[in-house]
Amino acid sequence: MNLGVIGSGYVGLVVGACFAESGNDVVCADKNEEKISTLKRGEVPIYEPGLKELIAQNVRGGRLSFTSDLAQVVKFSEVIFVAVGTPEDTDGSADLKHVLEVARSVGKQMNGPKIVVMKSTVPVGTADLVSAEIKQHTNFPVEVVSNPEFLKEGSAIDDFMKPDRVVIGAPTVEAAEIMRELYAPFVRTNNPILVMDVRSAELTKYAANALLATKVTFMNEIANLCERVGADVTSVRRGVGADERIGHHFLFPGVGYGGSCFPKDVRALSRIGREAGAQMEIVESVDRVNTAQKMRLVEKALTHFGRDGIAGKRFAVWGLSFKPRTDDMREAPAVTIITELVKRGATVCAYDPEALQVAHDMFAKLGGGIQFASSAYDALNGADALFIITEWNEFRRPNFARMNELLKTPVIFDGRNLFEPAKMNRLGFRYYSIGRAAVGI
Ligand code: NAD
Repeated sequence: MNLGVIGSGYVGLVVGACFAESGNDVVCADKNEEKISTLKRGEVPIYEPGLKELIAQNVRGGRLSFTSDLAQVVKFSEVIFVAVGTPEDTDGSADLKHVLEVARSVGKQMNGPKIVVMKSTVPVGTADLVSAEIKQHTNFPVEVVSNPEFLKEGSAIDDFMKPDRVVIGAPTVEAAEIMRELYAPFVRTNNPILVMDVRSAELTKYAANALLATKVTFMNEIANLCERVGADVTSVRRGVGADERIGHHFLFPGVGYGGSCFPKDVRALSRIGREAGAQMEIVESVDRVNTAQKMRLVEKALTHFGRDGIAGKRFAVWGLSFKPRTDDMREAPAVTIITELVKRGATVCAYDPEALQVAHDMFAKLGGGIQFASSAYDALNGADALFIITEWNEFRRPNFARMNELLKTPVIFDGRNLFEPAKMNRLGFRYYSIGRAAVGI
């Protein structure tokens, strides 16, 4: 089938490459011409494991190409996937300007019947808006399907190729059938394709993300309580997760969730609820508690160094991306933590295996407050303490003797509970983590 993907970011590129891999002819478009030139040169503008190879393979096979010409994509495609950004608007709602801009362009370029598939995460009722916008500009029939994307950055290709489920909100049986055919190669182990009405599909995406964000946030709140009452969150987590009804996923305490989805989707769901007259009390508090959680390590540092003791200190930071295996720093806890440390007069030397370039651009406004190191150990040189913010694998088994030697004072604020407190105590570190007692002198 001839497919178009509009928006060649984290989602669009994975969707395009995976559908090409299953034999479709795919054209990916983006209005960012620099991004398209990069892709045409055979480079991939983001870091996602396996994506570069998958794209190269399908470009070589003649099934995948890139363009900044939207008209070309619309004319070429029977099914058009929309994967543009839906960032947060000033009032917390999802900003639909990119989506509606695409709808307008699609409407103007229609040359026959089409199916338009919403991959972007959009509020309930958006498919209707998109359909109305397209129909203002064409008389060709169009069906707008909601097919929310559940991939996770860092394992996006696997998630797309072997989805837990595929959710399809289709306005007609015919549109649902075409979607089933497209996804058939990815559900050969009988993972379900769940066909439902369009609005339910739109809401499913927000409900899933908000529930996951709630699980993380609930456990962070329990971790904070553990510190107060002398319990150990690792034991509590294991005890809770062993209940089959709860499960072990998303129970690891930390410095708050970030990324391009949970924060904005939680806030957009609150907004959807308010507009519909159904206030989302739980969802609203999840956002509040998470915002506070991002400051937990800074609070620990303030307790350790004293309220005025941070000024003039030099801190090492390990991990900048919002989670491992991605270079995505949107709403990453590292941004909040580093900005606060620099605001309080500290300097930061940060290292991340993949996000250094993104961080460099993002932190340009902090001026001299932040430097970047080319290795985890380089970052430690002469630092008054280390902050661990992202749990990249390479941080899990470091050379502690070398760390101790490089740090000016052996103090660690670990936002991901990577190490055993008793061991850190033995090794001579002052070690703070989340939901467990601080150790060391
Ligand atoms: P992204 O910012 O990485 O990519 C979006 C792309 O759309 C950009 O390259 C941008 O230039 C392009 N674009 C914007 N307006 C355009 C237009 N008018 N014409 C052509 N291209 C245009 O965003 P993303 O992370 O891929 O997310 C896309 C959507 O998918 C969002 O709604 C997001 O919530 C949702 N989503 C993201 C993830 C994720 O893990 N990133 C997972 C599931 C769902």
